[in-house]
Amino acid sequence: MKILEVNKGASPVKVIPIGGLNEIGKNMTLLENKNDIMIIDCGLTFPEDEMFGIDIVIPDFSYLIKNREKVKGMILTHGHEDHIGAIPYLLRELNIPIYGTRLTLGLVENKLKEHGIKGKLNRIKVGQTVQIGTFKIEAIRTTHSIADSICLAIDTPAGMVFHTGDFKVDYTPMDGEPIDFHRLAELGNKGVILMMADSTNSERKGYTASEKTVGITLENIFRSSEARILIATFSSNVHRVQKIVDTAVMFGRKVAISGRSMLNVVNLAMELGYLKIPENTIVDINKTKHIPDNELVIITTGSQGEPMSALARMASSDHKAVQIKKGDMVILSSSPVPGNEKTVSNVVNKLFEKGAEVIYSDIADIHVSGHACEEELKLVHSLIKPKFFMPVHGEYRHLRQHAMIAEHLGMPAQNIHIMKNGQVLMLNKNKATLCKEEVPAAAVLVDGLGVGDVGNIVLRDRKLLSESGLIIVVAAIDKSTGMICSGPDIISRGFVYVRENEELMNSAKKAVAERLDKCCREGLKDWTGLKNAVKDELKDFIFEKTKRNPVILPIFLEV
Ligand SMILES: [Zn+2]
Ligand SMILES: [Zn+2]
Repeated sequence: MKILEVNKGASPVKVIPIGGLNEIGKNMTLLENKNDIMIIDCGLTFPEDEMFGIDIVIPDFSYLIKNREKVKGMILTHGHEDHIGAIPYLLRELNIPIYGTRLTLGLVENKLKEHGIKGKLNRIKVGQTVQIGTFKIEAIRTTHSIADSICLAIDTPAGMVFHTGDFKVDYTPMDGEPIDFHRLAELGNKGVILMMADSTNSERKGYTASEKTVGITLENIFRSSEARILIATFSSNVHRVQKIVDTAVMFGRKVAISGRSMLNVVNLAMELGYLKIPENTIVDINKTKHIPDNELVIITTGSQGEPMSALARMASSDHKAVQIKKGDMVILSSSPVPGNEKTVSNVVNKLFEKGAEVIYSDIADIHVSGHACEEELKLVHSLIKPKFFMPVHGEYRHLRQHAMIAEHLGMPAQNIHIMKNGQVLMLNKNKATLCKEEVPAAAVLVDGLGVGDVGNIVLRDRKLLSESGLIIVVAAIDKSTGMICSGPDIISRGFVYVRENEELMNSAKKAVAERLDKCCREGLKDWTGLKNAVKDELKDFIFEKTKRNPVILPIFLEV
């Protein structure tokens, strides 16, 4: 036994989170031992308000690209965007084997198809063990807001590492397959050196309610309503969609599906057998007009108030097939992801204005979280009994709170590592130490086809442009005399409405002309100097008159 322990500790393993810490999104963690690196998840996050024009944000892959021959494969905990969304961007650089459960891989495959990439996808079942390099990973069933979620027991040369994935403790999940507590307890008995665990709901006391409670609320609403019912929810919550369909069938209603991602996921889930819909239940969203209100349910995307989503378009009378009308019952079976409160509120207001009755999670038990609250976290800590603990999947406050929970359970504070993306935790000889080295782990911004080409400088310009607009000064300068022969002209966008501010624009032009003239007469030939002089002049002038700071762009032509 002793010899085994020494052997286990003989080869250090580095644990490197490169996304998912101090944020909820773009989860990605690396495990490295000698010549092998394995990856857990590869998610995206959505841009913050300040990230003008950015479509999505992905983790920094440069450490992986630099060590490309070491990277042996990736395992996925579940199919949410914050765990699989960046895979196409990684595969463009490194087409490594990917392991995941059936629904997770189905969602990845859809995504890869959209990007025209062929992945090496390997399906695993719960209870199964796969080898990625020197790492032996066992997939263990867990419960979350998407079917087929797993947690990972990773047998490494430095000991057993346990990753919860995203989870909640649902004793009565819709598919009747709760977390494999027996296995967790066995692992705990054998000894786990490090646990990484979901911190999303660590600030919430008590337990997260079972998915079943949503079903009960739904039934009550359906029973007492004669209205047309529209329900918005996350397309990936297949169990929720199943419950909506079952309830619709129970009350003799047809079901129409709206929104691209909802249609995609519903089709995939039906194909894979995760969603069972009786024949003649589904109707085409374009053919719902003649169905009586009390015989129809529309399941739609848009539970986050996304302006282009089906629900938002219905609420602003911009949807081809469905218009919200007085008496409709709209259910938002979701809660706003932090940051989306305003857009959700906008949609709720519009729906009320149209005369719909709106039910959302503040006023009824129409949504449950997919993440564990304090008591559930305590249960998993107590079963796994890790030597070291790294809270993951949360903003700093969530990580901090999760660390406190572990401390209250008796874990010494020095055994808890609240890390930052890019930091390296070294597991060696039954110890966990934070390394001095860090790996690059900045947010990489994706704008259209450009990956990482929009950095801080471009963002700063976009911010300035969005705040005060742009002024362009154009002038032509005679090569032989060095004097202005045409202009200066001033063009602006997003600064002021020129027609209503002719006087201001004319005096600005005059100020620039005088300064340019002066520079030319003094024989200033250096164009950068000339441009700077014009910029300064105009900047001061505009600021004095308007207290604004537009971006100023001088363009000189030599003729
Ligand atoms: Zn998740
Ligand atoms: Zn997640």
